[in-house]
Amino acid sequence: MKSRGLPDRAGRHVSLMRWGVAANGEPAHISEVRNGLKCACTCPVCDGSLVARQGRIKEHHFAHASGDECQRAAETALHLAAKDILAKRKEIVLPEVAMNASYGLPRIEIAPQQRYAIASAVMERKTGSIIPDVIVEVSGRRLFVEVTVTSGVDGAKLTKIRELGLSCIEIDLSEASYDLRREEIEKIVVDGSTQKRWLHNVRANEVRNKMLAEATLLETVYRGFAMHVDGCPIPARRWKGKAYANVIHDCIGCEHLLAEPSERAGVICDGFRALRRPRPTLPGALRPPPEAFEHPEEDNPINALNRWLAGKMRAR
Ligand code: SF4
Ligand SMILES: [Zn+2]
Repeated sequence: MKSRGLPDRAGRHVSLMRWGVAANGEPAHISEVRNGLKCACTCPVCDGSLVARQGRIKEHHFAHASGDECQRAAETALHLAAKDILAKRKEIVLPEVAMNASYGLPRIEIAPQQRYAIASAVMERKTGSIIPDVIVEVSGRRLFVEVTVTSGVDGAKLTKIRELGLSCIEIDLSEASYDLRREEIEKIVVDGSTQKRWLHNVRANEVRNKMLAEATLLETVYRGFAMHVDGCPIPARRWKGKAYANVIHDCIGCEHLLAEPSERAGVICDGFRALRRPRPTLPGALRPPPEAFEHPEEDNPINALNRWLAGKMRAR
């Protein structure tokens, strides 16, 4: 729950500000500073002087000495505090890395949830054309950390992160109170995992794409209203000695199906590799190259494969 705000001099409702920037440039919680102007804190948005209000009636908070409150100061200050705390702690718990299971692919654990030492951490350093909140170095690799307080990473930024070939984790504070204290923020950004999620993980992508590239793409053929693929390795069905499968009745639910079937891309079947059967020499049986599953604007490998197939058709 967000803490309730107060109207400022102009009558605008603003959230109570619990973090300011201390004289040494570091974020300071209202509980960590002296009362009134003695707090010597400034606002991270406008740089104006803050007054620590630590009275008995209202909740303790910072207010602008000028009386004009910045609209987004409370969230900006929490964002700054979270980044700073992470950068200083020199360790982070990263959630489990699993191959993305959301597109019908089997779920494969790649790395368990684990605590990692941070060799280095820098805040807001431009990399390529983006500025990640924090760049940490763990196990010899750079990792982007994005802290979400109000707005998360948009599609354009995610595309650029993929293009850079770096993993990115999001720490979600969008539901958190702006009143979080230092130790509460540490629990979330350093020691916890429930509010962290991988926006992009290079290793998971590699495993997924290798698996997809070793599989066979069987193009769909319509026979009347039925959608079929020829050459099914099980085989699910036969017609005049030729193996085939009905996509809806046989492929969906089959243990060898690696991704949701798509009308254009067809069925990505792992059965030939798993059952050690030779890949069929049918014209509709392909082995797409690994890059067919990679497109910076697509997290979904099937969409990437569709783009690759469309390009292939255009080239014909
Ligand atoms: S996914 Fe299963 S049913 Fe479909 S072609 Fe492959 S092995 Fe046959
Ligand atoms: Zn301000």
